[in-house]
Amino acid sequence: MSKILIRGAKVLGGEAQDVLIDGETIAEVGTGLSAEGATVIEAEGQVLLPGLVDLHTHLREPGREDSETVLTGTRAAASGGYTAVFAMANTFPVADTAGVVEQVWRLGKESGYCDVQPIGAVTVGLEGKQLSELGAMHDSAARVTVFSDDGKCVDDAVIMRRALEYVKAFGGVVAQHAQEPRLTEGAQMNEGVVSAELGLGGWPAVAEESIIARDVLLAEHVGSRVHICHLSTAGSVEIVRWAKSRGIDVTAEVTPHHLLLTDELVRSYNAVYKVNPPLRTERDVTALREALADGTIDIVATDHAPHPHEDKDCEWAAAAMGMVGLETALSVVQQTMVETGLLDWAGVAERMSFAPARIGGLDHHGRPVSAGEPANLTLVDTSYRGVVDPAHFASRSRNTPYEGRELPGRVTHTFLRGRATVVDGILA
Ligand SMILES: [Zn+2]
Repeated sequence: MSKILIRGAKVLGGEAQDVLIDGETIAEVGTGLSAEGATVIEAEGQVLLPGLVDLHTHLREPGREDSETVLTGTRAAASGGYTAVFAMANTFPVADTAGVVEQVWRLGKESGYCDVQPIGAVTVGLEGKQLSELGAMHDSAARVTVFSDDGKCVDDAVIMRRALEYVKAFGGVVAQHAQEPRLTEGAQMNEGVVSAELGLGGWPAVAEESIIARDVLLAEHVGSRVHICHLSTAGSVEIVRWAKSRGIDVTAEVTPHHLLLTDELVRSYNAVYKVNPPLRTERDVTALREALADGTIDIVATDHAPHPHEDKDCEWAAAAMGMVGLETALSVVQQTMVETGLLDWAGVAERMSFAPARIGGLDHHGRPVSAGEPANLTLVDTSYRGVVDPAHFASRSRNTPYEGRELPGRVTHTFLRGRATVVDGILA
């Protein structure tokens, strides 16, 4: 078996150490390890993290291979330092049966760049009316434990209650896209000062917050586990904080773009900033950063949402919602959380690897960087500064809000079970 010695990396941002990979496993972590028979990677000054895990990725296959495929999406993931992604269910056909989730799972296995764990739809066709075959998806080869109608909200309280009851039996979790649909009819951006000035339909914070409040209470009532996707408002943070203080089994995520960007950008009418939930205000951004730092928000999830050029390069009202995110997530987190002093690298490892793996029930990802563990690792040159150029993306889509923006940090190496999927910043 091949041996790789990563020399002098700051493990989770701590002291410089050597990490010896033997085959698929971390063989040894220490100082002054022998390089005999090993390929050496000089990593002095770089930060070594457990391979990142994304609980919220849209891979678009089957059905929208013009925007992304499992192969291109997992290549993008590896480029961004990820070793596992959870694939959202809003494909065509919808991943609401054992057959479709197994198809996605098989495509992930064939890709070789990143493990793919399919998410199953909560309701048939994402229509919110009838529960999908949750048990059959869990019992399938894909072993689905996370269920979500993401893109749409499970807005019927009775359906949500039944879903929470159903997944409780096998320790699953429902990931809710919290958006009260009647309150957001015709909405184009965050409801506030900017939407009033621009005359665009507003998306009120209460549309998100009212569903979160309802769902944490339902989770408490049922004694089940709920995960809230992409929190975007200060009020949502307060509700999750209250629920956790009450002992309710709730976890929550925030996207990188909601940690950095605000609705002021919509003034440009550049549809690259159109996203669901919408970009909010500076006050919301501050609350989200603080909540991620203090653990109220458990994880960063990308909501990587690739769209072809023609679906974004059009007038605001007609444009699709969503942004790609896998290849810039870690850089945005470095800028907004690490360089602001809100998180150290161990904190980043918790929120981008350990916790998402735990929430999603992955056994072989989100593991400590220590001997005997699977060699799923990400090496980051945190001193790097570069301007984002989507022409270099591995994703099939280019709809990034960061084009031309300088962001810190660069993933130099990613290892999936000891195999380098990225070498010197280039896909292997
Ligand atoms: Zn969503």
